[in-house]
Amino acid sequence: MLNLTRCISCGSCVKACPSGDPKSILADDTKRRTACRDNCRLCADACPSGCIEVAGRTASVEAVMEEVLQDEAYYRHSGGGMTLSGGEPMSQPCFSCELLEAASKAGIHTAVETSGNGRREAFLSAAPFVDLWLWDIKLMDEELYRAHTGGNLQVMLDNLKAVAESGADIHFRVLYIPELHDNDCILAATAALLREYPSFSAEVVPYHVLGNAKRGKLGLPELRYREPSEGEIRRFSEAVGV
Ligand code: SF4
Ligand code: SF4
Repeated sequence: MLNLTRCISCGSCVKACPSGDPKSILADDTKRRTACRDNCRLCADACPSGCIEVAGRTASVEAVMEEVLQDEAYYRHSGGGMTLSGGEPMSQPCFSCELLEAASKAGIHTAVETSGNGRREAFLSAAPFVDLWLWDIKLMDEELYRAHTGGNLQVMLDNLKAVAESGADIHFRVLYIPELHDNDCILAATAALLREYPSFSAEVVPYHVLGNAKRGKLGLPELRYREPSEGEIRRFSEAVGV
């Protein structure tokens, strides 16, 4: 993550980088993908001001479980547990499945927050170890779904059906962005989908701009949607039946 507010222009990152100027590479998502493929992180190690930070770390299932188990007593008291979130946990299916299995066997409540996109086998392998799926309904229109998420709506719907048929418990998280969802076809398709699964709970998740600061540090363009008003959220909830 790049945050230049503390940069002292010392040039150490440029000297360390095998690909050029990290300040220019990391400020642009496309350049990151082409110039920074090995993710060597030498620039972060060289920066004396903490302007370049590594977000995330590599960990084994055992190491994560060690951390999870430190809070075991708290989970039992609060009714909480372990939630895999992201990004998309099912894009690392082997790790996610192993971790979920380990937590489940340790008696920890498990939840997975997912877009529903990924390989069906991965979802079905994980399902026996997931107490609750937090399932995103992002946009019920094939073309818009592809354009805004890069995923495939039909894959999501097929995975949802398969996971639901496996006996899983699901809580729908229905995204609401006025500029995208205030459309009769999308409202009707969302309501129809929720009616198909009447035994599962659902909530509306209104768009917020909190993620934009992080997007900037990752070289991603700001999302330029607006946050919906209370009235809009209420009307959307009624229209989709949540
Ligand atoms: S991670 Fe490596 S290649 Fe990428 S900008 Fe930093 S030093 Fe350069
Ligand atoms: S190493 Fe850090 S402080 Fe120095 S020029 Fe690079 S980003 Fe700025």
